[in-house]
Amino acid sequence: MIKGIAASPGIAIGEIFIKKEDEAVIEKTKIKDAEKEIKKLEEAVKQSKTELREIYEKTLKNIGKEEAKIFEAHQLILEDPELLGKTKEMISKNKENAACALNKITEEFLSVFEAMGEGYLRERAADLKDVVERVSRKLVGVGGTDFNSIKERSIIVARDLTPSDTAQMDKEKVIGFVTETGGSTSHSAIMARTMEIPAVTGVSNIMGQVENGDLIVMDGTIGEICIRPDKKTLDTYEKRKTKYEETKRKLKTMIGKKTLTHDNHKVEISSNIGTPEDLEGVVLNDGEGIGLFRSEFLYMNRREAPGEEEQYEAYKKAAQTMEGKPVVIRTLDVGGDKEISYLSLPKEMNPFLGYRAIRVCLREVELFKTQLRALLRSSAHGNIKIMFPMISSIEEVRRAKSILKDCKEELRKEGARFDESIEVGIMIEIPAAALISDMLSKEVDFFSIGTNDLIQYTTAVDRMNNTISNLYTPYHPALLRLIKMVIDNGHKEGKWVGMCGESAGDFKLIPIWLGMGLDEFSMSAGSILRARWIINQLSKEMMEKEAEKVLGMLSSEEIESYLHELAIKMGIDKV
Ligand code: PEP
Ligand code: MG
Repeated sequence: MIKGIAASPGIAIGEIFIKKEDEAVIEKTKIKDAEKEIKKLEEAVKQSKTELREIYEKTLKNIGKEEAKIFEAHQLILEDPELLGKTKEMISKNKENAACALNKITEEFLSVFEAMGEGYLRERAADLKDVVERVSRKLVGVGGTDFNSIKERSIIVARDLTPSDTAQMDKEKVIGFVTETGGSTSHSAIMARTMEIPAVTGVSNIMGQVENGDLIVMDGTIGEICIRPDKKTLDTYEKRKTKYEETKRKLKTMIGKKTLTHDNHKVEISSNIGTPEDLEGVVLNDGEGIGLFRSEFLYMNRREAPGEEEQYEAYKKAAQTMEGKPVVIRTLDVGGDKEISYLSLPKEMNPFLGYRAIRVCLREVELFKTQLRALLRSSAHGNIKIMFPMISSIEEVRRAKSILKDCKEELRKEGARFDESIEVGIMIEIPAAALISDMLSKEVDFFSIGTNDLIQYTTAVDRMNNTISNLYTPYHPALLRLIKMVIDNGHKEGKWVGMCGESAGDFKLIPIWLGMGLDEFSMSAGSILRARWIINQLSKEMMEKEAEKVLGMLSSEEIESYLHELAIKMGIDKV
């Protein structure tokens, strides 16, 4: 058994297909005919562009616009006059072969990127390397992996998978990914989750241990693989797989059903998304709305902030796809662990306690207004709601609302259509906000509790720090008290209260949130049906009593173990 990172859930049993790492070996040779060498370079660039165009179209059709954009960018690199011009100059002047000249010039570009720093440029460096590798392989006559030869039920094993690799795969035949590099947010992990196939990443030296056609079993839920399993292991995996698929089938029967407790209490299960491409998963899993659209993803991996039109199109797509169901769009939540290089945010000692989210937007008013205008305009096409992140005071809410009011005024003057009574809410993710939620509830239409941050700020445990990850717990009595307080304060003013942190989908806590009176649960699309199934097994009245009991408990350990037992008793631990 080999351990890795659980990057996408599910169990697969299949044959290994290795992504070869045929790197082009570049040797320096003196050439006689520079003209001929330049022609060779131009031909290799032309072929690469044709390939990239094909991959772009395939990706656009099979995966999505956002993923396809990368290949558009790759084609543009091959149109860069400086890269090719300098390479040709080197071929002519130094009489060097094309592959060598191209790689030398690329190195020069890369060292400039590296000197300039991180984030966006580091990603552009990866793109440049990827493209130059493609051209170099053509120049020295080395083929890449032929993904057309993938057989049915293949599990791809690779050092890493690039967007161009996954774009070339026949999705019907691939049943899992195992990679040496990458965590749970790597491209391979995200792709696997979109394709709903298991993935285990971070398996060191897997490439040295396998051959094409080897049998492999993998469990992406716990991050475990076994190469050439014995009969006993194979049997265990077969059983686990059957059980997993049975559960998945059972959960599919929840599609189209209401989320309703035994005693007829209705709650809403919605989904968290990052880009409009994630909407498909929400629709497939019958989400009742979008509880959190993390709009900052629209701002990442680019050179400048998206303009009003581009944002308007993205939000409009969400509104239209959800056909009148609520779509809560959070305004830009940059900072903390989310870097956007072109905003030039300062390097800070404590980025999570620093210049982030609403704090940035209230200073960069034009940036904020562009987003608010796009959001307002998109509200003409569906049920859009606006949510401000990282609120810690009344003044911040009032200031944000006043900028929103200015935007409405501008749009009215321009004759643009928007929802005049658009709902405005805030995230409750800072203890200060939770403690004044009685006052904040008078200012807004709804609250959404962000447990990911609320845990770290309440217990002073950095959510990114592995050394103290045992202390990062949603079962802390302080957190539960704060959440209860927020729900009650929201309800006292007749406002609805949701939750969009990871704890909203925690099967042990769902009964408690229900008992506390939470109105909306927002989670990843893959968790929706499971949460609906759980809630449909429960009674609101009984869970109110359980919530009260848990609120009287002294420690996280006591609470977690009690909730574990409760889940077993209610039979909700089985899904
Ligand atoms: C949260 O803090 O719970 C939340 C949903 O926001 P993010 O994870 O994007 O910080
Ligand atoms: Mg947050």
